[in-house]
Amino acid sequence: MQNQHAETQFAKDYVAEVYDLVIKRNPNEQEFHQAVKEVFDSLIPVLAANPKYREHGILERIVEPERVISFQVPWIDDHGTVQVNRGFRVQFNGALGPYKGGLRFHPSVNASIIKFLGFEQIFKNSLTGQPIGGGKGGSDFDPKGKSDKEIMRFTQSFMSELSKYIGPDVDVPAGDIGVGAREIGYMFGQYKKIRRAYEAGVLTGKGLNYGGSLARKEATGYGTIYFVEEMLRDAGLGFKGSTVVVSGSGNVSIYAIEKAYQLGAKVVACSDSSGYIYDEQGINLETVKRLKEIEGKRISDYVIDHPHAQYYPGCSGIWSIPCDIALPCATQNEIDEIAANLLVSNGVIAVGEGANMPSTLQAINIFHENKVLFGPAKAVNAGGVAVSALEMAQNSMRLSWTFEEVDTKLQEIMKEIYRNSINAAHEYNAPGNLVVGANIAGFTKVADAMIAQGVI
Ligand code: NAP
Repeated sequence: MQNQHAETQFAKDYVAEVYDLVIKRNPNEQEFHQAVKEVFDSLIPVLAANPKYREHGILERIVEPERVISFQVPWIDDHGTVQVNRGFRVQFNGALGPYKGGLRFHPSVNASIIKFLGFEQIFKNSLTGQPIGGGKGGSDFDPKGKSDKEIMRFTQSFMSELSKYIGPDVDVPAGDIGVGAREIGYMFGQYKKIRRAYEAGVLTGKGLNYGGSLARKEATGYGTIYFVEEMLRDAGLGFKGSTVVVSGSGNVSIYAIEKAYQLGAKVVACSDSSGYIYDEQGINLETVKRLKEIEGKRISDYVIDHPHAQYYPGCSGIWSIPCDIALPCATQNEIDEIAANLLVSNGVIAVGEGANMPSTLQAINIFHENKVLFGPAKAVNAGGVAVSALEMAQNSMRLSWTFEEVDTKLQEIMKEIYRNSINAAHEYNAPGNLVVGANIAGFTKVADAMIAQGVI
């Protein structure tokens, strides 16, 4: 007993020491600090039971990206004016395979955001069971309101520099906020031209006619629902007959809504960065798809077609709508303490993080204290990167699986992630705590691979 106490103290000291180092080395990078803290707090039991991780300096090494690339992205807008954005690629950890992670184009992008996303990606990718390391990238470029030609000129300039650092066996970017099939297509074209080689596996999320995978577009949203379904099943519940609120109306949100409907739920609200809609009868997904995927309009336009629905400006109000299941699928820190308390007081049963780090640490504590089933992002939204890895596999074999084949593999992967996370939580004395379980299950595989590969 005394021994166990000493080991736990030893692990706590180790975590505190390295966390201090992270703060000192990366001042003003709040999002990165938050992501590290969430993982570190979970690891204490595993570090206490395995002193080898400290002996091999695993925490010190895992919080330091193997490479951070920051570069200038000059381009010319439609008025002939020169614009300059900043590009990033963080190659965080390559213990399990080529770096893998999306590119985000959004004005909020900075080193802290890319590092938090890249750090999370290490553990998420490990959880998928696929041979991929962790990375992330992007730019502070704002795609909103840009013409197609401007998007093309920007993405080509971005890839002119990025192409020096990526490759099918080196680093394989994909999409994220602001980067969809169109942007991936332009970047792939530019990469191909520069490298004078058709290396399909260098990017994922490609169009279906040039190496993309069926079900990649749906993967993150569908995977989110498959994971939450497992959480609910373990509690003797299901989607059927439940009321669901989904934030965002982008790629993850749309396909989470689609699958939730297929499983018999009613989705009553969704949003964009300007506001949210509430449709008591259930959101009409065809309208949302047309507005967002085809016409590039705002979610406020939904009420033109469905005048019985209501539109409210501002994003946070969406969490005041009573629901059984809440799926934050827009962006980081969208559920704070206030939103979490609102959800709890309205009787929420389950929360599944489709977006990356959408709940603050305080919000997560509130869900845990109130016995809300809580699925953390790195497990819940891992379906996207898992199918990206399946796209890489299809590219190297030069064949294409059917939608059903990919979807079946996705379902198996999501079930496995759930099982591994719940088992790890149980093994380390935190039964039902999927934050702890996912962090430990993701971490141990990477840490053991780092030890096996030596200090390099
Ligand atoms: P997306 O297609 O660009 O959609 C993002 C959605 O979130 C849009 O509706 C956007 O509204 C909204 N949004 C963006 N910033 C916001 C803010 N500050 N406040 C409120 N809403 C905001 O991106 P996505 O691919 O669906 O990604 C959504 C989240 O999932 C991100 O956290 C991403 O990292 C995560 N994720 C994505 C994937 C993937 O495969 N795509 C995989 C894993 C995780 P506007 O249209 O107004 O900007």
